[in-house]
Amino acid sequence: MVNNRLEELRRLRREATESCKFRGHSISWGYSHFDGSSRAQQCGECIHCGKTVVIDTNPAPNGIMVGGSALAIGCED
Ligand SMILES: [Zn+2]
Repeated sequence: MVNNRLEELRRLRREATESCKFRGHSISWGYSHFDGSSRAQQCGECIHCGKTVVIDTNPAPNGIMVGGSALAIGCED
């Protein structure tokens, strides 16, 4: 249970941005979506190659908090 979803979203965003930077990406974050009282999601896209990253403060039981191709594959530029 996440009490402060904005705080958590900010933390995940920082973490995801760093992980993507490590692979050479420059992430531009899109709008955040709020679902219920504890869930927030946000998508980002690399400005160079278009690979995406998704963060979710309260994913489904089999889901992950940070995911997307930008985390797994390096930037093509
Ligand atoms: Zn990239």
